[in-house]
Amino acid sequence: MAYVPEQSRYQKMPYRHAGHSGLKLPAMSLGLWHNFGDDVPLQRQRDIIHRAFDLGITHFDLANNYGPPFGSAELNFGQHFARDLRPFRDELVIATKAGYDMWSGPYGSGGSRKHVMASLDQSLMRMGLDHVDIFYSHRVDVDTPLEETMDALVATHRSGKARYVGISSYSPERTREAARLLSGAGVPLLVHQASYSMFNRWIEDSLLDTLADVGAGCVGFSPLGQGLLTDRYLAGIPEGSRAAQGKSLNPGLLHEEMLDRIRGLNDIAAGRGQTLAQLALAWALRDDRMTSLVLGASSVEQLEQNVRALDRLDFTSDELDAIDGLAVE
Ligand code: NDP
Repeated sequence: MAYVPEQSRYQKMPYRHAGHSGLKLPAMSLGLWHNFGDDVPLQRQRDIIHRAFDLGITHFDLANNYGPPFGSAELNFGQHFARDLRPFRDELVIATKAGYDMWSGPYGSGGSRKHVMASLDQSLMRMGLDHVDIFYSHRVDVDTPLEETMDALVATHRSGKARYVGISSYSPERTREAARLLSGAGVPLLVHQASYSMFNRWIEDSLLDTLADVGAGCVGFSPLGQGLLTDRYLAGIPEGSRAAQGKSLNPGLLHEEMLDRIRGLNDIAAGRGQTLAQLALAWALRDDRMTSLVLGASSVEQLEQNVRALDRLDFTSDELDAIDGLAVE
């Protein structure tokens, strides 16, 4: 059956400007790092993508190597797009990235002009698109001059293959320099995509101030700490979970001290009438310099629960203090 999106999809989701740009992103975005490779049935992927769009999630975050195997999340997204989303192309912000390992040989990763430009061409082909909305340098490549990587982003922007450009996981100093290089070429830095959660607060030190200075937005990834900041692991490691599959979440993190923190945060959430996932997401959105959170979901139910975090975004100072006591600095 043809997919018909919810009429009401724009009624609840807040949209925040990415820095000084005109582009608004939904407070919550969907990431396709896990759950969209060839290891997950296409129908489940399709259901999650449909529900996301129905809930006002217009921003889908990919990278060249999301899978497994590398490239399969883009290929699968391309299928869902061709089948269901093409009529809504201009309602979507589709992002991808280049920088981590993708193909064999000396040009298969990094920040060279050779890798970055070829990677975007490959991503467009896999997704069946003529442009992406945001194209990121996925990581710093210390063996390539920053000038060259930024020049490659500028070239993708000038060619029209990327509407906006971003960087991911750059230090505040390199972010400032990247923004300077880009703006010297007439291309603003739209966003920085950085890890951010109660268990990973590095951006609070100075990255957020730097981004405000240079007029760029912040997109926070893994706001649920890959599932730690949910009730997923409160009663052990369930089969099928990310930690059980030995993917990117090390089960060794689930030691007693961490579980104590998670239980304490879960109690705070319950006191607010929220789940832990909802508390973690509302908390990560409390600073309005955070443009959007890119979250992952392995089911429609997780996604629906997470988006309901938007029903309660306010915090008392007592709640914030109690969270500070349990979050990892
Ligand atoms: P999250 O921290 O949101 O973790 C998502 C995982 O948490 C889900 O797969 C699921 O795990 C679990 N989960 C989610 N909601 C619930 C819930 N309500 N109850 C119980 N468990 C829940 O983010 P990710 O680590 O998945 O990252 C999100 C996105 O960020 C990525 O897809 C990618 O787009 C981006 N990213 C970018 C990076 C970069 O370098 N720029 C690096 C990493 C991510 P389970 O599978 O066990 O059900």
